[in-house]
Amino acid sequence: MRKTAFITGIRGQDGAYLSKLLLEKGYEVYGADRRSGDSSFWRLRELGIERDVKIRYMDLLELTNVMREVEKISPDEVYNLAAQSFVQASFEQPILTSDIDAMGVLRLLEAIRMIRPDAKFYQASTSEMFGKVRAIPQNEETPFHPRSPYGVAKVYGHWITVNYRESYNMFACSGILFNHESPLRGLEFVTRKLTYGIACIRHGLQEKVLVGSLDSKRDWGYAPEYVEAMWRMLQQKQPDDFVIATGETHSVRELIETAFGSAGVAIGWKGKGIKEKGVDRKTGKTVVEVSAEFFRPAEVNILIGDPSRAKKKLGWKPKTKFRRLVEIMTEADLQRVQGRLR
Ligand code: NDP
Ligand code: GDP
Repeated sequence: MRKTAFITGIRGQDGAYLSKLLLEKGYEVYGADRRSGDSSFWRLRELGIERDVKIRYMDLLELTNVMREVEKISPDEVYNLAAQSFVQASFEQPILTSDIDAMGVLRLLEAIRMIRPDAKFYQASTSEMFGKVRAIPQNEETPFHPRSPYGVAKVYGHWITVNYRESYNMFACSGILFNHESPLRGLEFVTRKLTYGIACIRHGLQEKVLVGSLDSKRDWGYAPEYVEAMWRMLQQKQPDDFVIATGETHSVRELIETAFGSAGVAIGWKGKGIKEKGVDRKTGKTVVEVSAEFFRPAEVNILIGDPSRAKKKLGWKPKTKFRRLVEIMTEADLQRVQGRLR
């Protein structure tokens, strides 16, 4: 019989890629949208699946919505991808972030426990939980030390998922995913901000990109590969938690050099600290500037994951390397911006 999946956060990056994957596998896919006013399903449209996903209105803040949808859909698998997912915004809206990213997980788990306790559950946990890292690289046993309201809320989401598995024998998994990017990534994240910014600079629409910490390091992978890992977690015999990462780390500075490089611009650096600038070596123009606006009250300096358990148990491994990922994103944004100007 055809399996039914219910994905929260359907309008986000991962919601789009996961929907595509599950549709290809023959699932009936329901997606929760919180009806935020922006009615665009551009990511689903870009993947050519806008008409194939059944959209339901559900806000994770509203328990009645959550219970109604779990009851109506009666899903075999639930993927909880909805979140206020931007770290910087979580410092400005810590209570809202916690309500969605921590209590929202509990609302969904309670609804499943009461209505469809045999449904399999995936929680979108994050490397931000490691924060001020206690070990390098980080794996499933590394203690958490979150550095933002987002990270703290996600730690709650992680442990309540583990708790429902242990208390009620539910098939609940927490995927601890490191940063994953794609042409469908939100514009507020540093990768996409850069690749889109570079495309705008190339077409004369802006002069430079303003950034924050150049020395932060992240383990950046390719999103379509990461949603495959989510699905694999729910196909195991036993529920478990998994780190999903590439095992490589790169600084924001390297990201900038690589992204501009893939658009044919060599970057040189001038100045120090808040005055540091990235300059187009050929033209001498400043194309990157550091701005205090993009620094966070507390920073996660380095993330690098060890996906050994996922390799062993899920047969999952990352394929797309950092340089290629950045090229894919830069090329997509160059084409998008060019298309809009035509
Ligand atoms: P996005 O921010 O692209 O998508 C999140 C989605 O959640 C948005 O579509 C948003 O809706 C929806 N949402 C927000 N608040 C609510 C709410 N109250 N009720 C219902 N829906 C809501 O995130 P990604 O796709 O990149 O990430 C998916 C998940 O994985 C998130 O939980 C994120 O925290 C987590 N994660 C992501 C990583 C990454 O690198 N991408 C790394 C590790 C974890 P709207 O469109 O209306 O704003
Ligand atoms: P995060 O790892 O979930 O916080 O993903 P982001 O893409 O938002 O940030 C990754 C890293 O890049 C963090 O250490 C940020 O502080 C750093 N960074 C530097 N400049 C910027 C910027 O302009 N925007 C964002 N979003 N992050 C930046």
